[in-house]
Amino acid sequence: MMAAGQAAVHGSEVVLIEKMKRLGSKIAISGKGRCNLTNAGDIADFISYYPGNGKFLFASLKEFDNQALIGFFKGYGVKTKIERGARVFPEADDSEVIVNALKQFLGDAGVKVILGQTAGRVITEDQKVRGLELKLSHEVLPADAVIVATGGASFPRTGSAGDGYAIAEELGHKVIHPLPALVPVRTLEQWPEQLQGLTLKNVNASIWVEGKKKAEEFGEMLFTHFGISGPIILTLSRTASHALSVGQNVEIRIDLKPALSYEQLDLRLQRDFEKYQNKQFKNALEDLLPKSMIPVIVALSQIHPEKAIHQVSKTERTRLCRLLKELLLHITGTLGMGAAIVTSGGIDVKQINPSTMESRLIRGLFWAGEVIDIDGVTGGYNLQAAFSTGFKAGKAAAHYVRTAV
Ligand SMILES: Cc1cc2nc3c(=O)[nH]c(=O)nc-3n(C[C@H](O)[C@H](O)[C@H](O)COP(=O)(O)OP(=O)(O)OC[C@H]3O[C@@H](n4cnc5c(N)ncnc54)[C@H](O)[C@@H]3O)c2cc1C
Repeated sequence: MMAAGQAAVHGSEVVLIEKMKRLGSKIAISGKGRCNLTNAGDIADFISYYPGNGKFLFASLKEFDNQALIGFFKGYGVKTKIERGARVFPEADDSEVIVNALKQFLGDAGVKVILGQTAGRVITEDQKVRGLELKLSHEVLPADAVIVATGGASFPRTGSAGDGYAIAEELGHKVIHPLPALVPVRTLEQWPEQLQGLTLKNVNASIWVEGKKKAEEFGEMLFTHFGISGPIILTLSRTASHALSVGQNVEIRIDLKPALSYEQLDLRLQRDFEKYQNKQFKNALEDLLPKSMIPVIVALSQIHPEKAIHQVSKTERTRLCRLLKELLLHITGTLGMGAAIVTSGGIDVKQINPSTMESRLIRGLFWAGEVIDIDGVTGGYNLQAAFSTGFKAGKAAAHYVRTAV
């Protein structure tokens, strides 16, 4: 939508093909229906929030940054507000205001919108775009330029089912294998099910691949019937997804008391044990853990639940301390593309000119959004990348049609 509108604003006659019956299905569900459209942080820091190919976005984020995006929506009457982690949301707490603003933009720019039609092949001649074939009717729409903004392969019920990858491969583009990212993960251990619905705040989770620590995140996580989720787990899931796809062993270790060192936690346990010396072990952890977690930790500690606290040995206490600092979960998989917020992988950035979003292989073929091998962490970075690359692709495609065709 951003790409189509910009191409039209810059003088092109534009047709937007959308395979769903409505525009912006994914935007509508984004940010739990509130649309975290961008982040208010310093744009210079944005690159680091796209693991992998962040640098590719340098030019597009520079040309159309977070302030420009906020200003764009303000122009359509959308007021925004900033929340925790500098996340930007519409003041109305409703993603539909974003979709409606984009629709109005398309209308004002004179873009012809065709709904319920699936784009198929891009027709080329001498490595130049000549048109676009619709999938079912095989009708060919003549075109001097095509912008492919079909999204990733995650959450396919919103229409983004990875169609752009087939278009790319047919034209000789390399597609980096798409994997689910920002996705809940499954655990080998069954005990998370007992805790489903429990949120832990201010914990530290680290991810280990083949015994080596790869990343860690501090914040909030959630136990579910299949394993774990929540903001810090979603962020770590990209590493899990990549490692699992090549058969590597993945663990997540949760530090339930990240503010305390092992020694400090041990002193804390000693104080608690002193206070509750005549209680049974299972009744002595209330100051330390959420109630629902106590039976799980007791079982994992291998200390008899009914053992009197004054009988708990130093070795047992050390083991408990370690358990609280390194609660181990073996990761067996992710919830897959159906539940992934974003796709890691897509069109190889080496084959796209970052200043124009044009293919380096086919003239007049442009790429925008999540179809490209770019994925960001949570916080508004994915939509900003889609809008910024869309802005650039639209403008550059119009320029190409004006000057090079
Ligand atoms: C549940 C959820 C919540 C999210 N929340 C946020 C958030 O709050 N903030 C954030 O920054 N990011 C969020 N994201 C990620 C963000 O929504 C995407 O990164 C972004 O929408 C990508 O934009 P896009 O235009 O590239 O692709 P999409 O938004 O997926 O749009 C692609 C469009 O192309 C259409 N299409 C696909 N194939 C064809 C075809 N062959 N012919 C015609 N049309 C086709 C699709 O129907 C779709 O409408 C969320 C994602 C999900 C799944």
